[in-house]
Amino acid sequence: MKVLSLKCVNCGAGLEVKQDIDDFACGYCGVQQHVERSGSIVSLSRLEDALDDVKLGTNRAASELALERLQTDVVAIYKKRDREVRALLDANHKNNVRIGLGLTLCVAFSMGIFGPLYGMPLIFIGCFIGSRFMKSVARDKRAIEANAEATASPLKAQIARHQSIIDSYDFGTQGAK
Ligand SMILES: [Zn+2]
Repeated sequence: MKVLSLKCVNCGAGLEVKQDIDDFACGYCGVQQHVERSGSIVSLSRLEDALDDVKLGTNRAASELALERLQTDVVAIYKKRDREVRALLDANHKNNVRIGLGLTLCVAFSMGIFGPLYGMPLIFIGCFIGSRFMKSVARDKRAIEANAEATASPLKAQIARHQSIIDSYDFGTQGAK
Protein backbone atom coordinates (compact mmCIF):
# COMPACT_ATOMS: atom_id res chain seq x y z
CA MET A 1 0.00 0.00 0.00
CA LYS A 2 1.19 3.48 -0.84
CA VAL A 3 2.31 5.54 2.15
CA LEU A 4 2.23 9.35 2.10
CA SER A 5 4.96 11.35 3.78
CA LEU A 6 3.28 14.35 5.38
CA LYS A 7 4.03 16.76 8.17
CA CYS A 8 1.89 17.24 11.27
CA VAL A 9 -0.04 20.53 11.00
CA ASN A 10 0.58 21.14 14.68
CA CYS A 11 4.11 20.03 15.61
CA GLY A 12 5.64 19.58 12.15
CA ALA A 13 6.75 16.01 12.82
CA GLY A 14 7.16 13.85 9.72
CA LEU A 15 4.27 11.41 9.46
CA GLU A 16 3.80 8.32 7.36
CA VAL A 17 0.12 8.11 6.47
CA LYS A 18 -1.42 5.14 4.71
CA GLN A 19 -3.28 6.13 1.59
CA ASP A 20 -6.69 4.86 2.72
CA ILE A 21 -6.62 6.80 6.00
CA ASP A 22 -8.80 9.93 6.19
CA ASP A 23 -8.59 10.94 9.83
CA PHE A 24 -5.83 10.20 12.31
CA ALA A 25 -4.07 11.63 15.35
CA CYS A 26 -0.42 12.70 15.26
CA GLY A 27 1.70 10.10 17.05
CA TYR A 28 3.87 12.86 18.54
CA CYS A 29 1.46 15.56 19.72
CA GLY A 30 -1.89 13.78 19.45
CA VAL A 31 -3.59 16.49 17.38
CA GLN A 32 -6.40 15.07 15.27
CA GLN A 33 -6.07 15.80 11.60
CA HIS A 34 -7.80 15.16 8.34
CA VAL A 35 -6.26 14.10 5.04
CA GLU A 36 -7.68 16.21 2.24
CA ARG A 37 -7.41 14.93 -1.29
CA SER A 38 -8.12 16.96 -4.36
CA GLY A 39 -6.90 15.08 -7.42
CA SER A 40 -3.20 14.49 -6.86
CA ILE A 41 -3.10 17.15 -4.17
CA VAL A 42 -2.93 15.81 -0.64
CA SER A 43 -2.86 18.02 2.42
CA LEU A 44 -3.46 17.82 6.13
CA SER A 45 -5.64 20.03 8.25
CA ARG A 46 -6.74 19.96 11.83
CA LEU A 47 -9.92 17.99 12.12
CA GLU A 48 -11.92 20.91 13.54
CA ASP A 49 -10.57 23.22 10.81
CA ALA A 50 -11.47 20.66 8.17
CA LEU A 51 -15.03 20.59 9.48
CA ASP A 52 -15.11 24.41 9.46
CA ASP A 53 -13.81 24.43 5.91
CA VAL A 54 -16.51 22.01 4.79
CA LYS A 55 -19.10 24.21 6.48
CA LEU A 56 -17.75 27.32 4.83
CA GLY A 57 -17.40 25.52 1.53
CA THR A 58 -13.79 26.59 1.59
CA ASN A 59 -11.35 25.35 -0.95
CA ARG A 60 -8.24 26.79 -2.40
CA ALA A 61 -9.90 28.74 -5.20
CA ALA A 62 -12.49 30.17 -2.82
CA SER A 63 -9.74 31.12 -0.37
CA GLU A 64 -7.78 32.88 -3.08
CA LEU A 65 -10.86 34.89 -4.08
CA ALA A 66 -11.66 35.65 -0.45
CA LEU A 67 -8.05 36.65 0.16
CA GLU A 68 -8.13 39.09 -2.73
CA ARG A 69 -11.41 40.61 -1.57
CA LEU A 70 -10.26 40.84 2.06
CA GLN A 71 -6.97 42.50 1.10
CA THR A 72 -8.87 45.05 -1.01
CA ASP A 73 -11.17 45.70 1.94
CA VAL A 74 -8.24 46.18 4.34
CA VAL A 75 -6.52 48.59 1.93
CA ALA A 76 -9.83 50.51 1.61
CA ILE A 77 -10.17 50.71 5.40
CA TYR A 78 -6.67 52.19 5.75
CA LYS A 79 -7.23 54.60 2.85
CA LYS A 80 -10.44 55.80 4.50
CA ARG A 81 -8.58 56.17 7.80
CA ASP A 82 -5.83 58.22 6.12
CA ARG A 83 -8.43 60.45 4.41
CA GLU A 84 -10.22 61.02 7.71
CA VAL A 85 -6.98 61.81 9.55
CA ARG A 86 -5.90 64.20 6.78
CA ALA A 87 -9.30 65.97 6.87
CA LEU A 88 -9.02 66.19 10.65
CA LEU A 89 -5.50 67.64 10.48
CA ASP A 90 -6.49 70.08 7.71
CA ALA A 91 -9.45 71.29 9.78
CA ASN A 92 -7.15 71.45 12.80
CA HIS A 93 -4.61 73.49 10.88
CA LYS A 94 -7.29 76.01 9.87
CA ASN A 95 -8.47 75.98 13.46
CA ASN A 96 -4.93 76.65 14.72
CA VAL A 97 -4.58 79.59 12.33
CA ARG A 98 -7.82 81.00 13.77
CA ILE A 99 -6.62 80.33 17.33
CA GLY A 100 -3.31 82.03 16.48
CA LEU A 101 -5.11 85.06 15.06
CA GLY A 102 -7.45 85.07 18.05
CA LEU A 103 -4.49 84.92 20.43
CA THR A 104 -2.68 87.73 18.62
CA LEU A 105 -5.80 89.93 18.79
CA CYS A 106 -6.29 88.86 22.40
CA VAL A 107 -2.69 89.80 23.27
CA ALA A 108 -2.91 93.17 21.49
CA PHE A 109 -6.32 93.92 23.00
CA SER A 110 -5.39 92.77 26.53
CA MET A 111 -2.09 94.63 26.59
CA GLY A 112 -3.66 97.74 25.05
CA ILE A 113 -6.64 97.95 27.37
CA PHE A 114 -5.44 96.34 30.59
CA GLY A 115 -1.65 96.64 30.38
CA PRO A 116 0.81 93.75 31.06
CA LEU A 117 -0.37 93.11 34.64
CA TYR A 118 -3.91 92.00 33.71
CA GLY A 119 -3.14 91.18 30.09
CA MET A 120 -0.81 88.27 30.93
CA PRO A 121 -3.43 86.12 32.75
CA LEU A 122 -5.81 86.60 29.80
CA ILE A 123 -3.08 85.35 27.46
CA PHE A 124 -2.57 82.27 29.63
CA ILE A 125 -6.29 81.59 29.56
CA GLY A 126 -6.19 81.94 25.78
CA CYS A 127 -3.28 79.45 25.58
CA PHE A 128 -5.10 77.03 27.87
CA ILE A 129 -8.24 77.10 25.72
CA GLY A 130 -6.09 76.66 22.62
CA SER A 131 -4.34 73.63 24.15
CA ARG A 132 -7.72 72.01 24.87
CA PHE A 133 -8.52 72.17 21.15
CA MET A 134 -5.19 70.54 20.30
CA LYS A 135 -5.70 67.74 22.81
CA SER A 136 -9.13 66.93 21.40
CA VAL A 137 -7.59 66.66 17.90
CA ALA A 138 -4.99 64.15 19.12
CA ARG A 139 -7.79 62.19 20.80
CA ASP A 140 -9.95 62.26 17.65
CA LYS A 141 -6.98 61.04 15.59
CA ARG A 142 -6.40 58.16 18.00
CA ALA A 143 -10.13 57.32 17.85
CA ILE A 144 -10.07 57.23 14.02
CA GLU A 145 -6.97 55.00 14.06
CA ALA A 146 -8.38 52.68 16.73
CA ASN A 147 -11.66 52.42 14.85
CA ALA A 148 -9.89 51.52 11.59
CA GLU A 149 -7.76 48.92 13.39
CA ALA A 150 -10.85 47.41 15.04
CA THR A 151 -12.52 47.11 11.62
CA ALA A 152 -9.40 45.75 9.93
CA SER A 153 -8.21 43.24 12.54
CA PRO A 154 -10.99 40.63 12.07
CA LEU A 155 -10.36 40.87 8.32
CA LYS A 156 -6.64 40.35 8.95
CA ALA A 157 -7.47 37.25 11.00
CA GLN A 158 -9.53 35.94 8.08
CA ILE A 159 -6.66 36.73 5.70
CA ALA A 160 -4.29 34.67 7.87
CA ARG A 161 -6.82 31.84 7.94
CA HIS A 162 -7.26 31.80 4.16
CA GLN A 163 -3.51 32.13 3.67
CA SER A 164 -2.95 29.08 5.86
CA ILE A 165 -5.51 27.12 3.81
CA ILE A 166 -3.69 28.06 0.60
CA ASP A 167 -0.31 27.27 2.18
CA SER A 168 -1.57 23.89 3.35
CA TYR A 169 -2.63 23.09 -0.22
CA ASP A 170 0.82 24.14 -1.44
CA PHE A 171 2.41 22.01 1.26
CA GLY A 172 0.17 19.08 0.31
CA THR A 173 1.33 19.31 -3.31
CA GLN A 174 4.93 18.85 -2.21
CA GLY A 175 4.03 16.14 0.30
CA ALA A 176 2.22 14.06 -2.30
CA LYS A 177 5.30 13.61 -4.51
ZN1 LIG B 1 2.06 16.49 15.83
